[in-house]
Amino acid sequence: MLPHGSQMTRSPWLPWKKLKKKSMSDTNDTLFGKIIRKEIPADIVYEDDLCLAFRDIQPVAPVHVLIIPKQYIPQLSLAGEEDQALLGHLLLTVKKVAEQLGIAEGYRVVINNGEKGGQTVFHMHVHLIGDRPMQWPPG
Ligand code: AMP
Repeated sequence: MLPHGSQMTRSPWLPWKKLKKKSMSDTNDTLFGKIIRKEIPADIVYEDDLCLAFRDIQPVAPVHVLIIPKQYIPQLSLAGEEDQALLGHLLLTVKKVAEQLGIAEGYRVVINNGEKGGQTVFHMHVHLIGDRPMQWPPG
């Protein structure tokens, strides 16, 4: 399988050098990499072979959970065709965790992609937000 860095040139508007440096690193030393390896604590609500779900440390709603792949993908725009099943698994896990936490009736699912998209931790993650009324458009 190709490393994620190999897909970088597909997106010419991205800061290529910066992303290359991240994706070429052998270890995932992001905050979320450390949570996956249990090097730092997290309030984990679900885990399986492919992903981990834990409560956001600065929740924006009564339920705010992050679902992350255990495989290192820095951001959604660096995912490739080979990640199709994993990305589907993440969304089905969102559904499962929403049911587990009693918010299946309605919730918001957010992926911030890249600095311009509001992403701050560069290990791809899905926000599951619920248990309060949602506004639209989002900020
Ligand atoms: P984003 O801005 O989309 O990259 O989301 C990153 C999220 O990670 C933010 O909502 C943060 O509050 C959350 N976060 C940062 N550090 C931690 C941590 N140690 N445990 C849980 N959530 C965290």
